[in-house]
Amino acid sequence: MTTVGILGGGQLARMLALAGAPLGLRFKVMDTSAEACAGQFAPMVVGDYRDDAALAEFASSVDVATFDFENVPAESAQWLAERFPVFPSPRALAVAQDRLAEKTLFRELGIPVPDFAPIDTREDLDAALARVGVPCILKTRRLGYDGKGQFRIRSLADADAAWAALGEQAATVGLILEGFVAFDRELSVVAVRGRDGEFRTWPLTENWHVDGVLSASLAPAVADDVLTATAFDYARALAEALDYVGVFALELFCRDGELLANELAPRVHNSGHWSIEGSETSQFQNHLRAVLGLPLGDTRMVGHACMLNWIGAMPDAGPVLAEPGGHWHDYGKSPREGRKVGHATLRADGVADLGHALERVGRALGREAQVAPVIARLG
Ligand code: ATP
Ligand code: MG
Ligand code: MG
Repeated sequence: MTTVGILGGGQLARMLALAGAPLGLRFKVMDTSAEACAGQFAPMVVGDYRDDAALAEFASSVDVATFDFENVPAESAQWLAERFPVFPSPRALAVAQDRLAEKTLFRELGIPVPDFAPIDTREDLDAALARVGVPCILKTRRLGYDGKGQFRIRSLADADAAWAALGEQAATVGLILEGFVAFDRELSVVAVRGRDGEFRTWPLTENWHVDGVLSASLAPAVADDVLTATAFDYARALAEALDYVGVFALELFCRDGELLANELAPRVHNSGHWSIEGSETSQFQNHLRAVLGLPLGDTRMVGHACMLNWIGAMPDAGPVLAEPGGHWHDYGKSPREGRKVGHATLRADGVADLGHALERVGRALGREAQVAPVIARLG
């Protein structure tokens, strides 16, 4: 009996555990909160990732470890990697944890990125603003997620407010200034690489964010072959450079037909949730296969799929469950403003049927604004 340890016990760990059940896997989760929702499905160690005793308790009876959360301290990941296999490797994790290291690697690999500059002091910010120009975004280098730890600078007059909001963190998690990309749309590549180097991607996905948080994903994205091939080439180059094992997502901005890399998420990703029902093999199943050295499953799509995130509180499940291709995922979390508490996936054989299902669900749930951009894209 193989036990997979997962650092971080949120919905990603929960969906990994669900996907691993048919493979006969056991799971053990570690999280800083006793409320973490994967704890409903797997034994959980509650403790700080830097606490040796908690890490040792997690490490006992684990055969291989992976992450639901990319901000596990690199030293803790390294400590575990000295005891059993850890995928993705602590080195890959370290690069993806740090927006500066990540963007530097993108650039080295010839992957276009928005203009960026590391910021250590208030003077650095002024110098970088002069070079990068406005609008731009000041971000923490580490620990950001769902758009947290970011300040949008619209004009030079916002510099003081940006520094007041994030300046203190220059000395702790570091800061980076990025040029604001007036993108036409956002895309992601969700990909998997096996222990033997085999590489596969799911179809390119288009994503819509509201206030920095993912709201909807559509797969396959409406994109031409050249754009798709370029996005896949970038993902493959990154996976090979990092000797990556497991699933990851590469988030991209598309502006005037050009792709710019935003960030690399070293884990299963919200923009790949549709693959649970929309693909021959889900991202969760393939992540487990990859970290265990099992053959990877086919990533081919089954029709067209749209995932809708439920943020704050779960809506009524009825309208989604009434759809022939409707699938419901309630993460079992208590409601809280801004929190991802669940998602739905609508799947259909053709784009017209998917559009109609989105219209019905949007209307029934009063979520017309959430589905509107997807329906518009489907034409
Ligand atoms: P997550 O890890 O949850 O995807 P995050 O906190 O790491 O989010 P980012 O991906 O950097 O944050 O930013 C969240 C969203 O904010 C992006 O998907 C995009 O919509 C917008 N955004 C971020 N950086 C830029 C930029 N340089 N130009 C334009 N929009 C941006
Ligand atoms: Mg991120
Ligand atoms: Mg992101």
